[in-house]
Amino acid sequence: MPLWETADWPLPLWLTLATLLGLVIGSFLNVVIYRLPLMLRREWGEEHLPELTLSWPGSHCPSCQAPVRWWQNLPLISWLLLRGRCASCATPISRLYPLVELTAALLSLLLAWRYGMNLQTLALMGFAWTLLALAVIDTQTRLLPDRLTLPLLWTGLTWHWLFSSEALFNQAFLGAIIGYLSLWSLYWLFKLLTGREGMGYGDFKLLAALGAWLGAPALLPVILLSSVSGLLVALVLKLRAEWQGQALPFGPHLVIAALLLLVGGRELTSLAFLDDWLLITNWAFILP
Ligand SMILES: [Zn+2]
Repeated sequence: MPLWETADWPLPLWLTLATLLGLVIGSFLNVVIYRLPLMLRREWGEEHLPELTLSWPGSHCPSCQAPVRWWQNLPLISWLLLRGRCASCATPISRLYPLVELTAALLSLLLAWRYGMNLQTLALMGFAWTLLALAVIDTQTRLLPDRLTLPLLWTGLTWHWLFSSEALFNQAFLGAIIGYLSLWSLYWLFKLLTGREGMGYGDFKLLAALGAWLGAPALLPVILLSSVSGLLVALVLKLRAEWQGQALPFGPHLVIAALLLLVGGRELTSLAFLDDWLLITNWAFILP
């Protein structure tokens, strides 16, 4: 299959291009992270919110409405040049913007290095970028928009249907179903036992998408890692007395788990018993 063959560009060139691509995409992710929840809330009836789309109107300072010029819109560099403040009114610009750009660039670099220069790596980058946007949106708004989780689910299945082995497609198909149903049943069990809602439907759809991309056997490591990550954060918040028992978003932990697995590769799975589990279940995903 020529699509899987690694092209033989010099490695430093490939890694540099991948990092730059990640920076540019990270800049676009910031737009999605900021605007998509506002667009959805307006659609859901909050008429007082301004009408906007992902591309309109052009970027402007939320404080003084000054339009952002092209040289003020370069990923990372502009934030550093402006020292984190609006050029017109000097209102601080959130550190989240350069942080998202940096994370997107780092993820792209790591995936480019792990998986080599081929179409699969680009697909995995698209997967990782979408996950990054979902994690930040969930942290900020407690939403995991269908407009991101469902396309992620369908592109995962389509990708494996078009380009992967039959074994992996079967695992992806099962992964989507088991991913959704596992959290769905946990949700109902928790609700019946305690009368409270621990998770939302967005979490089920996100785990279904993770199953569709990584295959059913990856769901166990993902659930284990995300639980550890969630418990750690809850513990830190409790120690700092910032947590009074309110439900915390679970989406970011699912994302962290999936990205750790994807980027950590065999070094990660060889820790604990994960390698045995992936061997027993004949995991067909190609993890370097
Ligand atoms: Zn301003």
